[in-house]
Amino acid sequence: MAESSVRSQLKSQISLRKQDIISATHYLVAAASLNPPGDTTLVAEAAADLLGKDFKRSSRPKTCLQWTHGHLSDLRTPQLDSPTLDGVLKDGRVYGRGVSDLKGGIAASIMAATVLAEQKHLWSGEVVLTLAGDEESMGSLGTKWLLDNVEAARGDAMVCGDVGSPNVVRFGEKGFCWFEITACGVSAHGAHVHKGINAIDRLRKVLDAVERLENFVVDAPREVSKAIAAASQVSEAAPGEGEPQTLHEATAEGDIRLPVGISVAQVEEHLHKSLDAMPGVSWRMIRSHKPTYTSPTHPLVQTALSASEEVMGLGTKSVVNMRVDEYVMAGELVKVAQIHALIAYEFLKPK
Ligand SMILES: [Zn+2]
Repeated sequence: MAESSVRSQLKSQISLRKQDIISATHYLVAAASLNPPGDTTLVAEAAADLLGKDFKRSSRPKTCLQWTHGHLSDLRTPQLDSPTLDGVLKDGRVYGRGVSDLKGGIAASIMAATVLAEQKHLWSGEVVLTLAGDEESMGSLGTKWLLDNVEAARGDAMVCGDVGSPNVVRFGEKGFCWFEITACGVSAHGAHVHKGINAIDRLRKVLDAVERLENFVVDAPREVSKAIAAASQVSEAAPGEGEPQTLHEATAEGDIRLPVGISVAQVEEHLHKSLDAMPGVSWRMIRSHKPTYTSPTHPLVQTALSASEEVMGLGTKSVVNMRVDEYVMAGELVKVAQIHALIAYEFLKPK
């Protein structure tokens, strides 16, 4: 069969099952997997149910693997009473907690794998779908565990339909530094503040120093410098409770995201230089990871770009809503599944 006919066949097989993708998304949404606490038992069972028994490992010789990875947990949202959280289809939108991050993507991956499994004669190698827990806690008990313990999870390439847009091919991951800062002062009654040292005042100076991280010049490789921008965010300050007084202690937790071109060591050096000499201030790094990326010129990235262009067309915009009334467009779930199937086919087609 001509290559263009195979591609059209894969796309149309997926289009025909739009309703199945929506139903699969809602089936996954109905299985709670909030993090915290991060228990993914129910949703793992739901995913296994959807996969059925067609997905046992093939005994055919492997020429290469294509690995689609998705996480099953979703973040707890602050407003738990939204009527759309349990899964609703309205105006072409698939609502539900976790639809964009990442249950819709998982349903799309399952459909892409299903259609590829039905057309095994058109390609060679193996497609492995791995679904992990623990992603919202950085994946040490999920993806990392799979990579360390399950041989089939270590493929030659990986595609993931995590939150984003089928118009945008993401080829890297920002690094991060999580840290905690404590500023100590001297307590005094609110009517005698001049006799104390307010920990909040000290903490304010600390946060100003941390904010200067935004002035770092990002020394990224040319090929990625346009794609990534620095972002820093101080997530929480805890001034304490009680009657007005000069605070004895104030703490803040920082979550700094590192674009390619900024290292963890640079952030640590800045924090040491800026904070170590401040009186009453201590800090510690809780967790950190360097940024990583695959070259945008890598064949997998290029294949993903052309698949996205083929399915989405040029100049289209996609819609993802990650607020409390989280939704994705039903039509885009179909397109994500088509893009995944085309990438896998391109990677595994007879050469
Ligand atoms: Zn995600």
